[in-house]
Amino acid sequence: MRRLGLLFVVSAPSGAGKSTLLAALRKEFPELTYSVSATTRAPRPGEVDGRDYHFLSEEAFLRLRDTGHFAEWARVHGNFYGTPMRPVIDLLSSGKDVLFDIDVAGADQLRQVFEEGTYVFILPPSRAELARRLGGRGTESPETLAKRLKNAAGEISQAGRFDFWVVNDDLDRATDHLRAVYLAARARPRLFPGLVEELLAQFD
Ligand code: ADP
Ligand code: 5GP
Repeated sequence: MRRLGLLFVVSAPSGAGKSTLLAALRKEFPELTYSVSATTRAPRPGEVDGRDYHFLSEEAFLRLRDTGHFAEWARVHGNFYGTPMRPVIDLLSSGKDVLFDIDVAGADQLRQVFEEGTYVFILPPSRAELARRLGGRGTESPETLAKRLKNAAGEISQAGRFDFWVVNDDLDRATDHLRAVYLAARARPRLFPGLVEELLAQFD
């Protein structure tokens, strides 16, 4: 049975566990294709250019931005991030589901372009636990850690703009909830154009 591709957009304050949850979702649904963003942030150990991000200089990023290359872009924690438009169009038109890991401002912009997406927000169980996770990850300097924690309140205040919330308290439970949201999004009638007509024709 043919189904149209869907946009699955996930945002969260940094450290809430979004990467962990999305890794689990992608493992279970390899057909969910990741939208690789561009960024001016330096690669972290283990990150691969073209797989995790397209790592660009600020000059290259701004040049692309000014030619309308991005479906959305934002400055997050002092770096530029953006979603290249072309791959999204190509993936959707070939019926693929596309996964976006973007910030709250970017999700807002993407909704202007793709109203039909599913927009999910991941919440930490508490501020203390968010701080603990950010520190425990060991990828942030004390300054970026403080900046990310400060930004979290602003991001959480925008949670009401999203279609679904997943509270990442227990990882297994949160993974179950995220899977449930994705499966529900895949069941939307508008993703099955002509299906009912085809079925009904068999009753003629
Ligand atoms: P994000 O992508 O949202 O910035 P990460 O997925 O990198 O966050 O998670 C931040 C840290 O918290 C990581 O060390 C991760 O292993 C840990 N973590 C994620 N989810 C949970 C959870 N439910 N319980 C405890 N630790 C978690
Ligand atoms: P990180 O530096 O930890 O990889 O990502 C920092 C933040 O930038 C995360 O909230 C992530 O979702 C967001 N982000 C990653 N790619 C994009 C993008 O293309 N656009 C926007 N708006 N945000 C992004």
